[in-house]
Amino acid sequence: MVKKTLRDLDFNGKRVFVRVDFNVPLNERGEVADDTRIRAALPTIEYLLAGWAAVILASHLGRPKGKRDDRFSLRPVAERLGALTGRQVRFAGEAVGPETEAASRELAPGEMMLLENVRFYPGEEQNDPEFASRLAALADLYVNDAFGTAHRAHASTAGIAAHLPAVAGFLMEKELDILGRLLSAPERPFVALIGGAKISDKIGVLERLIEKADYLLVGGGMANTFLAAQGHNLQASLVEADRLDLARNLLAKAGPGERITLPIDLVVAPDRMQPENRTTVAVESIPAGWAAFDVGSGTVRLYANRLRPARTIFWNGPVGLFEVPGFDEGTLGLARVIAASEATTVVGGGDTIAAVRQAGVLNRVTHVSTGGGASLKLLEGRELPGVAVLQNR
Ligand code: ADP
Ligand code: MG
Repeated sequence: MVKKTLRDLDFNGKRVFVRVDFNVPLNERGEVADDTRIRAALPTIEYLLAGWAAVILASHLGRPKGKRDDRFSLRPVAERLGALTGRQVRFAGEAVGPETEAASRELAPGEMMLLENVRFYPGEEQNDPEFASRLAALADLYVNDAFGTAHRAHASTAGIAAHLPAVAGFLMEKELDILGRLLSAPERPFVALIGGAKISDKIGVLERLIEKADYLLVGGGMANTFLAAQGHNLQASLVEADRLDLARNLLAKAGPGERITLPIDLVVAPDRMQPENRTTVAVESIPAGWAAFDVGSGTVRLYANRLRPARTIFWNGPVGLFEVPGFDEGTLGLARVIAASEATTVVGGGDTIAAVRQAGVLNRVTHVSTGGGASLKLLEGRELPGVAVLQNR
């Protein structure tokens, strides 16, 4: 379903409510520690301001659980947005209510205002129709550019669209386009690298990617469960004993051959606190009582050989405990292989992006998806609530 975007909207002289994802990390002094998400919203904001809209921005930050909590105020974000755009950013200390409604009417075309954290109000996460209508009272039109929150049916991401004409912003459009193409028309070979701690976090995506990708390369803790399902003794490694049947079913679904490719060697240690005692062994030779914390160099070479001819690569999930030096080589090595590829490369997931950044190659992938949960839900083939409410072309 192709959604209408900003380009389909007549917003000149109108008040436009823009749901953005300004859920940024703050440092100990309460300042914005990483403004990637603010920058990601700038094309939509600048386009609206240049086209003479009065822009009302709304976001959540952290998990204040429906009550005011100054640690999660968006005020520092208003300051950073002002610095990034060189424009004045008004700040509404209440996201809804008569004062904010008056401020929204006074906002001139070409000006912008940021609302306080919408999750200070219980109605946001409950998708309360009353709260949604109070948000809608601030504007004439609605733009959803918060892809990272689009898998949640909240008042500012979904409920508000019952009251206002609703379209996608540029970031939302780009995410839907690039991730949608992975499922509908990927250039082949299409190779997916999936890691992370557990299979149970990513069942839907695994099932879908087995159908869509030519090769599925598995790493991280979840690979242990696949290897155990094949009969290997993983010793003290993280294995989801209740997911062995699921792993067997996925392997059966992939059929014979190597459509699902598993590690051939692993970096093992007596426990996670002893990376200095690590050694690399074949998957059938883990010492008694030891555990796997990374894929071995043989696996990196095998996966690199699969990745090299790819025309499309999707990566979600580190292939080891990459936060611990010594258990990060597989993840960083594969990040560099993916960065060097000529393919369309798409990476998603908070930890995966952190790993790609750690490898120093974040600017060498085609698309860094800003949505963790939202990207995975979309790849499962599910319609996201924050997308479903937008007008179709
Ligand atoms: P993302 O945030 O990119 O979606 P996940 O949260 O699914 O990724 O997975 C990342 C986590 O998985 C990291 O904290 C990493 O340490 C952990 N992990 C990966 N492999 C292993 C392993 N072999 N043992 C323990 N933890 C692992
Ligand atoms: Mg994570």
